[in-house]
Amino acid sequence: MEKGEKIIIAGGGLGGLTLAWLLFQKGIPATVLEASSRLGGRIQTIKGNLDTPLELGATWFSDLHPNLLWLLNNLGLKKYPQYSEGISLFETRSFEPPQHFFVPASESPSYRIAGGTGALIAALLQGLPAENIVTNAPVTAITASGHELFVKTADGGMRAAGNIVVCMPPQLAASKIKFTPALPEAVQRVLPEVQTWMAGALKFTLEYTEPFWRTEGYSGMLYSHAGIITEMYDHTNFEEDKFGFTGFLNSSAAAYPQAIRKELVLQQLEPLLGQNVQRPAGYFDKVWADAFVLQGNPVFQRPHHHNGHPLLQLPYMEERLFFCGTETATAFAGYMEGAVIAAKRLAAQLT
Ligand SMILES: Cc1cc2nc3c(=O)[nH]c(=O)nc-3n(C[C@H](O)[C@H](O)[C@H](O)COP(=O)(O)OP(=O)(O)OC[C@H]3O[C@@H](n4cnc5c(N)ncnc54)[C@H](O)[C@@H]3O)c2cc1C
Repeated sequence: MEKGEKIIIAGGGLGGLTLAWLLFQKGIPATVLEASSRLGGRIQTIKGNLDTPLELGATWFSDLHPNLLWLLNNLGLKKYPQYSEGISLFETRSFEPPQHFFVPASESPSYRIAGGTGALIAALLQGLPAENIVTNAPVTAITASGHELFVKTADGGMRAAGNIVVCMPPQLAASKIKFTPALPEAVQRVLPEVQTWMAGALKFTLEYTEPFWRTEGYSGMLYSHAGIITEMYDHTNFEEDKFGFTGFLNSSAAAYPQAIRKELVLQQLEPLLGQNVQRPAGYFDKVWADAFVLQGNPVFQRPHHHNGHPLLQLPYMEERLFFCGTETATAFAGYMEGAVIAAKRLAAQLT
């Protein structure tokens, strides 16, 4: 058993890493235990075949998100507006031609992070001691004994902690972590019903050598009720030398093999944007239903159900156990802004 770890954070997504970073800034080290081999959770930027930063997870934010903007500023990261100039498309039905519309220029557009959202995770990690971040360490049990808490990980390892912060979707915490003694009944009832934002979502990206749609006068923005793609946006990088699209597919397409999804995406886009569509340098997509976000749990609550619930704000196990993560935030729960709000709340509570 390892002793002397004051604060343990279960979950290395934006919430957990921001909390660890905020605490470290105040001279308080915390250990992050992350279940998967990858840090970042619902933030996942991959590099395409042409090295294009492609977002499989979180992508956009706005001026309504001051806490996230504050964090980006502190970490020295740049933001840039989502491209929306030119003709945007709306497919109302499969048997009607697409409607054309123009998105008016906005003083407060949607932004993206230069280098990709993953740059935010990388910057947080740069500000943290590597030895305090443990991957492949799913927390399976939290036990109170005396005045200490003990965290068990899937490999059987045990760590002692003064405080534990659970920074993962509450629904997942309920199904993956055994709490001893058991949490109050009201909490046990609420946790499995807290909707996990974007659980089950299907995000896709396409990569191209040229932004042929821009030269033809299109914004790359598409909304559709007619095909596998429900929403799509231009995905050109900050430097404007790498090009592509990203967006969401109809969740029912999770049942198809990826090759079929790609075929259907290109089939939908060709009549809209021309034959160039058929020559992507890369196609990538991700169904967000794995063990680190949904655990195959078939309970789909309505969007944001029980997010920011009052019981998620309270400490348990003699005020040593806390819930964090975006679903606990009382504003912008589910979004990156919510994850930062929750981390700031916990950092204030723990110092
Ligand atoms: C497809 C998609 C698109 C999105 N788009 C946007 C967007 O455009 N703008 C926006 O603001 N937000 C968006 N979001 C939401 C955004 O990603 C989340 O709000 C944010 O990343 C949540 O951070 P978190 O740390 O609270 O949770 P998570 O990112 O879920 O982190 C939780 C971490 O806990 C880990 N974990 C799970 N179980 C255990 C365990 N037993 N022990 C230890 N660790 C465990 C997980 O592996 C994960 O790394 C999107 C999400 C998805 C999936």
